[in-house]
Amino acid sequence: MSGIRSRDQADVIVIGGGPGGAAAATLLQRQGHRCVIVERSRFPRYRIGESLIPHTFGPLSRLGLIPRLEASHFPPKHSVRFVSVDGAESEPFYFSETIDSEAARTWQVERAEFDQMCLDHAVENGVEVRQNACVTQVLFEEDLATGVRVSTGDGTFDMASRVVVDASGRATVIGRQLELRESIPWLQKASVWSYFRGGKRGDGIDAGETTIFLLQNRGWAWYIPLPDDTVSVGVVAAPDDLFPAESTAEAAFIRAVSGSAALSARLASAERTAGVRGGSAHLAYRNRETCGPGWVMVGDARAFLDPIYSSGVFLALASAEAAAGCIHEALDAGDVSPSKLGAFEPGLNAGVSVIAALIRAFYCESFSFRTFLSHHPGQRAALIDCLVGDVFDKDMGAFVSALESTSQP
Ligand SMILES: Cc1cc2nc3c(=O)[nH]c(=O)nc-3n(C[C@H](O)[C@H](O)[C@H](O)COP(=O)(O)OP(=O)(O)OC[C@H]3O[C@@H](n4cnc5c(N)ncnc54)[C@H](O)[C@@H]3O)c2cc1C
Repeated sequence: MSGIRSRDQADVIVIGGGPGGAAAATLLQRQGHRCVIVERSRFPRYRIGESLIPHTFGPLSRLGLIPRLEASHFPPKHSVRFVSVDGAESEPFYFSETIDSEAARTWQVERAEFDQMCLDHAVENGVEVRQNACVTQVLFEEDLATGVRVSTGDGTFDMASRVVVDASGRATVIGRQLELRESIPWLQKASVWSYFRGGKRGDGIDAGETTIFLLQNRGWAWYIPLPDDTVSVGVVAAPDDLFPAESTAEAAFIRAVSGSAALSARLASAERTAGVRGGSAHLAYRNRETCGPGWVMVGDARAFLDPIYSSGVFLALASAEAAAGCIHEALDAGDVSPSKLGAFEPGLNAGVSVIAALIRAFYCESFSFRTFLSHHPGQRAALIDCLVGDVFDKDMGAFVSALESTSQP
């Protein structure tokens, strides 16, 4: 094709420099593979997804990022609390109930800054990052991924690699190109969100808690304390509930927030500091296949279910770490078949299916945490395990069965 310059060569090309892409590239570069991240925006760039869960501690620690988080101004998060539609507050679910270490506390992060931290760390580990560079196409020879086509302000060029990692988030570059992306029929939710200064916070270790306000028709709102007295407030609901005819995002947000007396009370002396983001598009999707010859997806590029349990960044890091281990072995063995690259998937998918079961339960009319725990008091620890992200490499079958028995549609 005319105007396309010759091919650069890397071991691994990572599409996207968010937490998933930065983590995969860092870990692979450390193992001696030449990694290039191709990122379409210039960092720092905005992202939603500010509340971490405790089990991000493992991947963040292995990446070497915990000291930076400890030195940061991000509010520590020790718990999550739910507020019912009629305003009744649950006791906080303190992560220390099941975690007896420093990992019982995590952080509420401003994502532009957190993601920059992860990307800078990748560069310090030797990863080459090309910003303002958009992958327009993954290149294939028959069904083997062999590189990417990149468009920048200066033109278009091809880069070759032995493995392509799709970490492009909701853009799902490979999912769209190979038409693998599909919606999830039982999970059709939309979201709008904004930021306030001066919202009410708890005291002491409750100051950084995530509060989830339940709204009518199984809608809900998040309340996430951030640095500089800022709070992130977002609403998730069925698109038709959130966006009645001709409603704008602004109107949808104001209507939903003012419809909750408990949430409005938290914001009584707060001032809104930003416009409303989000819209009526469905949040959830997945891909029918998530790896193939020479390619593998991590993070949101694989799938996104729902933000209710704040598991997105954790799953991005966990999938990136697991994928990096398999890519390393595949490159060493000279075998980039899907069975090698995707060897981590059964374990990852088993854990994700536990989180999916708790999401499905949450949206059932008959489900409440209080009822669930009154019927299944022995599942409290498993519930907290799920809320903190401790769902891998363990048998959660009894928990999932209990969820299913308490949440018939
Ligand atoms: C409403 C909402 C609320 C959420 N709340 C939370 C929360 O509280 N906690 C939580 O953990 N998660 C939350 N999430 C999820 C979280 O945002 C994601 O799971 C997380 O950002 C995934 O990280 P990632 O690295 O996979 O993708 P991203 O962070 O999206 O990074 C992908 C990168 O790829 C780049 N890219 C895209 N296309 C291309 C291309 N063609 N070429 C080159 N680069 C490209 C993008 O510019 C971007 O930088 C929420 C999500 C939503 C929608």
